[in-house]
Amino acid sequence: MDSVDTLIVGAGISGLATAAALEGGDYAIIEADDHIGGYCKTVQKDGFVWDYSGHFFHFKHPEIEAWLRARMGEQRVRVVEKKSFIAYAGKWVDFPFQKNIHQLPQAEFIECLHDLYFARAPAELSGLERRPETNFKEMLYARFGGAIAEKFLIPYNEKLYACDLGTLDRDAMGRFFPHADLTDVIRNMRRADNASYNSTFTYPEGGAFEYVRALASAVRPEAIFTGEGLIGIDLERRVARTSKRELKFEKLVSSAPFPVLLSLAGVEHDPRGWSWNKVLVFNLGFDRKGPRDVHWIYYPDRARSFYRVGFYDNIFDTDRMSLYVELGFGKDAVIDVAVERERVLADLAREGVVNGHSVVAEHSVVMDPAYVHITKSSMAEHARLAAELAKRGVYSIGRYGGWTYCSIEDNIVEARALVKRLRS
Ligand SMILES: Cc1cc2nc3c(=O)[nH]c(=O)nc-3n(C[C@H](O)[C@H](O)[C@H](O)COP(=O)(O)OP(=O)(O)OC[C@H]3O[C@@H](n4cnc5c(N)ncnc54)[C@H](O)[C@@H]3O)c2cc1C
Repeated sequence: MDSVDTLIVGAGISGLATAAALEGGDYAIIEADDHIGGYCKTVQKDGFVWDYSGHFFHFKHPEIEAWLRARMGEQRVRVVEKKSFIAYAGKWVDFPFQKNIHQLPQAEFIECLHDLYFARAPAELSGLERRPETNFKEMLYARFGGAIAEKFLIPYNEKLYACDLGTLDRDAMGRFFPHADLTDVIRNMRRADNASYNSTFTYPEGGAFEYVRALASAVRPEAIFTGEGLIGIDLERRVARTSKRELKFEKLVSSAPFPVLLSLAGVEHDPRGWSWNKVLVFNLGFDRKGPRDVHWIYYPDRARSFYRVGFYDNIFDTDRMSLYVELGFGKDAVIDVAVERERVLADLAREGVVNGHSVVAEHSVVMDPAYVHITKSSMAEHARLAAELAKRGVYSIGRYGGWTYCSIEDNIVEARALVKRLRS
């Protein structure tokens, strides 16, 4: 039987970052897919460059960005000033909605400002009962008031997460949620500061996969086994069963979805405790240019199939419209891609994004899971069961192994911290 000190499951960002941090150590990576990259893959077709789903970067750790860039050779990384909007009542309002209510029609502006003020005012002033913040939906009402919540935050996030927002933890989006208080909102009316939420982003000309390539350059190629999936773990013997062999390990670092790992390791758990959405992404290349000066548009309107549309051509400054279009579904939804494609094209025309354009190249993918539903119970169960597994030398990391909402930079930070911990 083959044996290895550290067996890494998954050659996405987390698995590759773990191997890179192990440097010359004794490791092997098994990857069920035929290609490395996980969700950070890029598709290039007929001159269009698309990620699985729009991936844009805001590194918070300059040393991580520098480490990656040093491994990217001549690759040009664009730094782009973000222009993002919300399609609302036939107009584009600057993102985030809550800081730009002054751009709404006057009656709606007053409604939003009124509800925002009283949502935060002491109960004796508002006469309203203070709403608790025990879940995501209550947090939206308590911090922004009914009008902002119901015009944008609730419909948009329900389209994205495809679930009852009342089931999600209050902090389900963590730092990715653009908070704003009354002072921020009022200040923004005179001096636009939408910038404070990630004003610029970076994007490599070869797509997000360039960061995968950079990580992989620090990993021994002969230690990566693609087309080899983990299908079982014997925790007692520390033996992994793969689609090709049995492998003895001392430590196993998995970036597979956590409920999958639990099942493969035979750990008793309640499968109903884990929920997530699926995201269907259409990458569409057109024959000519579309709207300019826009990188994303958010669509809260429930009558529209998609919740967000991104414009690669305005990132790359190219002359043919290149879109990614994202649709959210529940985890058990049966998706008819051909039907959704027709809905998407019709909705793009209704929104004026497509205006007699022809699709000349396309790609689609279902990301399943895409956004995990972070609930009180998922957090408690993850902490409990991950600690149990760690006692047996099995560590679950990454966006899906950690059952969390994060960026690729977070994945790299986590992988490096784990390796440091294992070494000490
Ligand atoms: C819609 C969407 C938009 C995003 N946008 C951004 C963004 O703009 N910026 C950003 O920084 N991040 C973004 N992210 C997050 C980013 O994609 C993830 O943080 C990152 O790709 C996760 O990497 P990972 O290695 O943890 O997981 P994955 O990419 O899921 O990799 C896990 C790997 O494990 C493999 N695997 C699973 N099961 C097994 C098994 N049994 N045996 C062997 N291999 C297995 C899979 O095939 C996969 O390759 C986005 C994510 C989504 C869903």
